[in-house]
Amino acid sequence: MPGVVDEIKERVSIVDVVGQRVQLKKSGRSLKALCPFHSEKTPSFYVFPESGTFKCFGCGAGGDIFTFLMKADNIEFGEALRVLAERAGVGLRPVAEVTAEDQERDHLRQVLDAAAAYFHNLLLRSNQAQAARAYLQKRGVNQATIEGWQLGYAPESWDALQTYMLNRGFHVDDLLAAGLVIERDGGGYYDRFRNRIIFPIHDGRGNITGFGARALGDDKPKYLNSPQSILFDKSATLYGIEHARDSIRQSGQAVIVEGYMDVLIPHQMGITNVVASLGTALTPRQMEQLKRLCKSLVLALDADAAGDDATLRGLEVARDVLDREAVPVPTWRGLIRFEHILETDIRVLALPRGKDPDEVVLENPDEWKRLVGEALPVVDFYFNAVTARLDLHNPRDKAAAVDRLLPIVGEIVNDVVRSHYLQRLATLVQVDERTLANRLRSLRQPASRRAAQPPVAARRQVARVDLDDHCLAILLYEPTLYWKVLDLALSPDDFVHTENRQIFITFRSFIEENSEFDVAVFRQTVDPMLLPHLDDLIRLGTQRPQVSGEILEKELTATVLRARKQRLTDEINQLKFLQAQAKQESDTTEVTSLAQRVNALTEELAILNRRLDELTVLWKISGRR
Ligand SMILES: [Zn+2]
Repeated sequence: MPGVVDEIKERVSIVDVVGQRVQLKKSGRSLKALCPFHSEKTPSFYVFPESGTFKCFGCGAGGDIFTFLMKADNIEFGEALRVLAERAGVGLRPVAEVTAEDQERDHLRQVLDAAAAYFHNLLLRSNQAQAARAYLQKRGVNQATIEGWQLGYAPESWDALQTYMLNRGFHVDDLLAAGLVIERDGGGYYDRFRNRIIFPIHDGRGNITGFGARALGDDKPKYLNSPQSILFDKSATLYGIEHARDSIRQSGQAVIVEGYMDVLIPHQMGITNVVASLGTALTPRQMEQLKRLCKSLVLALDADAAGDDATLRGLEVARDVLDREAVPVPTWRGLIRFEHILETDIRVLALPRGKDPDEVVLENPDEWKRLVGEALPVVDFYFNAVTARLDLHNPRDKAAAVDRLLPIVGEIVNDVVRSHYLQRLATLVQVDERTLANRLRSLRQPASRRAAQPPVAARRQVARVDLDDHCLAILLYEPTLYWKVLDLALSPDDFVHTENRQIFITFRSFIEENSEFDVAVFRQTVDPMLLPHLDDLIRLGTQRPQVSGEILEKELTATVLRARKQRLTDEINQLKFLQAQAKQESDTTEVTSLAQRVNALTEELAILNRRLDELTVLWKISGRR
């Protein structure tokens, strides 16, 4: 199924794209560099021009030009596609739509830039802004921060911004589209932000996308954001990301706080890997963004939210009742699932009671560093928080501990880790581990999630489809399988083709966030350029012979494992090739280190083969029934 993506790959050389960002050195038929995604002293980052791929044997990053650009520039697939298409001179089919939307985006950016400059200027110079300046000073924000972050002040007026902007030649429709004014019931418009401190919010590349605003008087709500627009998507936005990006990448860690001040003060004090979620629960898209930059996330929760028993229970309840309604801090079960799907280490930092991050940092930056260093893995943190308030000699409290902790343990996908916590729980409540394991098994039955039925299949055998397409086609045909194969730890890396990888990422976010899988609704969340390929996959799924869910599940598992085997074999061959090269150049240290990697991967391959063998045996047995 050739498409735009393949066409682009044919025309744009990976050497050029990567070479613009890192210093490549020729090494036989491949090229070598210091990895841009982790810090290292000797290069383990390779580019293979023939296959158009890159691979870092140090941190495991790998992929094609799309993956590289998305990771290096911290952009989403659609953006990478547009950048590369332009470079390749390949037309993106819905050209008219794209350019119209791009133009509108550019125009809105100008509107926001002008408004930000207006607010900023007022904060710096206007008499009306005296209270705002005093407030910032009281909170410890200095002049350099005010200027560096372009903080602003919206005056106490219904039309000051509107008048200014109209005089500058902007149209009131622009202001409305940018969320700066609100339409009056009786006609006319009024300024959205009045008597507030303004915090411009940027995307990863430093473009303003919206504003956050804090009331100076008693106006409610205390914090107000720009509404959703084509530029501003709260669920994909992190305050401070444009300042924190490089530091997060270098330190390999991001600390997530809640408020604007909690970001500004640490940055001012030289602690620059801090960003804020905009007062909502962390969303998968925010996490995805951070994951492209680092492998370790630390959530700073205030002591009340983190430690309070009622809050802990409240969160679980809120999750169950509201399902996908946002709650003020992420739910524990959600976090553990995030941790798994993002392959990220998530830790929780409990702030001292009654203190916000900005206060801690302002008082003593070293104390902050200590707290970050001592942040606990999510599950440990939850264990401590729950058991701290229970008397584990009391049978009723024991039961409560099991009720609360077992579902959390059940979210852990890695079975070694899961059994570690199961043991810990068994010891804590002094209940036989097997009893708990049985309880857990009944809990882990996936909730049945009904999928919209695709049109009735035409029974036709499909010949020679590649593993990638096949795996995704099965998932799209029977989305509930996603919950049944959690043990497989499916990840975007399981998909070699960029389109498939991207469709899988969208699929995963969708299914994690929606209780029902409706193909039509899902289709709307997919990048338009990927729709032709998506439709091919859906067709592929419906053309399969109809089999039971159980067999389909095994087929999916086998397909994923086979794809992994193929990839692992390719990687081993690449390494052997590099090894032969190093031998020719008599680079003995390189030969040894490559040999070690080959051994490690060969072991992995052996495990994979064993799993595949077991699966085929099981398959045959169950097939005989
Ligand atoms: Zn690396």
